[in-house]
Amino acid sequence: MRMQDAKAELKPFEIAQAQIDGVGRRLKLDRDLLEILKVPSRELTVNFPVKMDDGSIKVFTGYRVQYNQVLGPFKGGIRYHPDVTLDEVRALAAWMTWKCAVIGLPYGGAKGGIICNPKEMSPGELERMTRRFTSEISIIIGPHKDIPAPDVYTDAQTMAWIMDTYSMREGYSVPGVVTGKPLVVGGSKGRDEATSRGAMYSTRVVAKHLGIDLSKAAIAVQGYGNVGYHAARLFHDECGSKVIAVSDSRGGIQNSNGLDPEKVMIHKAKTGSVVGYPRSDTITNEEVLELKCDLLVPAALEGAITEENAPQVKAKVVAEGANGPTTLEADAILFKRAVTVIPDILCNAGGVTVSYFEWVQDLQHFFWTFEEVKKRLEDVMNRATEEVWAMAEKEKVDMRTAAYMVALSKVVDAYKVRGIYP
Ligand code: NAD
Repeated sequence: MRMQDAKAELKPFEIAQAQIDGVGRRLKLDRDLLEILKVPSRELTVNFPVKMDDGSIKVFTGYRVQYNQVLGPFKGGIRYHPDVTLDEVRALAAWMTWKCAVIGLPYGGAKGGIICNPKEMSPGELERMTRRFTSEISIIIGPHKDIPAPDVYTDAQTMAWIMDTYSMREGYSVPGVVTGKPLVVGGSKGRDEATSRGAMYSTRVVAKHLGIDLSKAAIAVQGYGNVGYHAARLFHDECGSKVIAVSDSRGGIQNSNGLDPEKVMIHKAKTGSVVGYPRSDTITNEEVLELKCDLLVPAALEGAITEENAPQVKAKVVAEGANGPTTLEADAILFKRAVTVIPDILCNAGGVTVSYFEWVQDLQHFFWTFEEVKKRLEDVMNRATEEVWAMAEKEKVDMRTAAYMVALSKVVDAYKVRGIYP
């Protein structure tokens, strides 16, 4: 099946809307207010020209969807990918709304994207495309309106271009217009590892409730990029867990006596893959997910755990480092089998939380130490995880449903007190 067909079948925004309906019914939330939450508040489509290196002019299409702002300014990443669609951006913007709400950040949700293939573009073309896109969407973004961040195939450099372009239009430097920037222009310490550190804090809370001792736990990590590598390193270094398997797009490696995450990363940097790391056996990507272990961290792509492999997952806890790694069907199977899934909107929210810290530091022009960032992140993740755990216990539901319940309740409560304008 081609990627495009798969996307057409999945209809991410329909899934996002169905989730709202399901949770709304269970919590008996006001149905009229739920209707507001089922549609984005604002969508901007921009078509804009960019001068390419060969002298030609190419017209690109980009989107910024501002889903909901009842809890605060819009917040969400910008994605560069050939498969970007408005429907997908809508769904991602909705999920950002719930992610910020469940964590308790004073933000609404948004997302953006440009249909492009960044792998085939030069740095100069990427810069000109980014700057023109920023200019096109500058009518709706701003440090108090909508604050973009990196997503798939955008990075700190992209954010620096956005910050510079917006600042040039305003006539002065506005670091708070984007997060995920390089440190030198107002980035925050600890942003690189924030998603994984947040996942570790959240998992620690859940492990305590389940009576799992992480210092004796065996861990398998799918995906050895930013999230997977830092997760393996942090569980190993700070919890004393044994990392028994990791994988990347080329395959997996296993050693039941434990792998050294740092040395595995050095091997990957040299050879392009974790596969071939000395003192390890090569296994398939599928096998990594089905290994006997205490904790499984999917940190690659969406749809990794499906109804086919969910019956074989042997981990006691699945900590979703990736966005959407578990399908709806697999979720139900894991719940029945008493495997605890820490859902993405909670588990990987450390990234947006440190983005929030970056924005706060930018607005105050006052920067925190790494120790302060870590301490505040730990407090936020502990509190949010306890809140979701308590909701799951009270309503006798899985943690994903509980996280949506917490998030939607907060958004609905905000509407109740703010009222409907005019
Ligand atoms: P990345 O590109 O740095 O790493 C992805 C890794 O997954 C790579 O090592 C790649 O080789 C591997 N991979 C791809 N296909 C695979 C497969 N089939 N099996 C095993 N490994 C495979 O990306 P990232 O930033 O680490 O993001 C990973 C996931 O986490 C994504 O779902 C992303 O949306 C999510 N996420 C990331 C952040 C963040 O701060 N980076 C925040 C929240 C959520």
